[in-house]
Amino acid sequence: MPPVPLAACRDLPSSVTVPAVIYLDHNATTPVLPEVFEAMRPYFCEEWGNPSSAYRFGSKLKGVIEAARAQVAELIGAQPREVIFTSCATESNNAAIHAALKANPRKRHIVTSAVEHSSVLNYCMALQRDGYRVTYLPVDRDGLLKLVDLESAVADETAVVSLMWANNETGVLFPVKEIAEFCRGRGVLYHCDAVQAAGKVEIDVRKVQADYLSLTGHKFHAPKGIGALYVRWKAPFSPLVHGGHQERGLRGGTECVPLIVGTGRAAELARQQLPEYGKRVRSLRDALEEEILSSIPNTELNGHKTERLANTTNITFHGVESEALLILLDQEGICASSGSACLADSDEPSHVVKAMKRESAASREMIRLSFGPANTGTDASGALNALRRSTQMLRG
Ligand code: PLP
Repeated sequence: MPPVPLAACRDLPSSVTVPAVIYLDHNATTPVLPEVFEAMRPYFCEEWGNPSSAYRFGSKLKGVIEAARAQVAELIGAQPREVIFTSCATESNNAAIHAALKANPRKRHIVTSAVEHSSVLNYCMALQRDGYRVTYLPVDRDGLLKLVDLESAVADETAVVSLMWANNETGVLFPVKEIAEFCRGRGVLYHCDAVQAAGKVEIDVRKVQADYLSLTGHKFHAPKGIGALYVRWKAPFSPLVHGGHQERGLRGGTECVPLIVGTGRAAELARQQLPEYGKRVRSLRDALEEEILSSIPNTELNGHKTERLANTTNITFHGVESEALLILLDQEGICASSGSACLADSDEPSHVVKAMKRESAASREMIRLSFGPANTGTDASGALNALRRSTQMLRG
């Protein structure tokens, strides 16, 4: 297994632990940055009070939560009072759709796309079983969504449109500004799953006027188990999680102060590092992608060449089952995936690639590689060599 060379870590703080693998699955999750861990540390062992307590040992933590809320708000151009902390983006996505439906009980139609994350798709399917009508918008062969399809799907009984910012499997970007403008014009609430966009492209809710927008900490170097939901000021909201008065009564449950602090710090770092992020990961991604497509026969890119995140590539290796390829790559210490980590235990083909290329086996014969800022050229060449060997072996 090729170790990650120390040179790769030159500009990382000395406390970063570099795993003995080549990690190319940053759309699944990211490592907690040392600065984030340091910011959280006191709130595990020293400042562990309950923010809802009346005495200061607990109540002073309210200020800490508010500081983190302001940091998250700043990442997306929101006001702090428009950010609610949740347990994950799955909850944020469910909560946003739930709130929109509650606000319009007579409207029983939802518009989403066939390529959303399972946290939207499976909730929509559950709602269908409860009698709601759901339209799953198609995408083209490049994974792009056509606005005209949205325009013809929205009807008077549509309560909410839920369309993601960036696809987790292909990185393909949806035209979120135009979607938001259209929804505003039609008076329909718009929820945007911006999980994969945060820290990778600029998010500004003053420009993209969604009513709800979901984030999760672990995709931008905060820990897992903490998410956030932006709720535009005065947009309707009724809680999904009922309980105490936390989060202004909008989401019950004692706040996990360390994770909230970590998410705030990670959001601040993501905002500061955004200008560099794209340049850094794009050159590695492009180099690896070009080498794969030109030197490994029968390969095909899934996703639009330019309208996508700078860190993601999704490639079909014709005649090679995704699962078999991932096993061989794993044996070589390469972390990659064939779709969302949430569905990695299922042997279903990628619903995203299937929606793009219905007629072909591309959805069973693809993998996703997603870079992060700590990856190096050595990682990319290690992955390329492993892919060459593995595909050759599997093709016999
Ligand atoms: N939405 C998208 C686009 C995702 O990629 C993910 C995670 O992979 C989620 C939602 C769910 O996030 P979480 O793991 O915080 O529930």
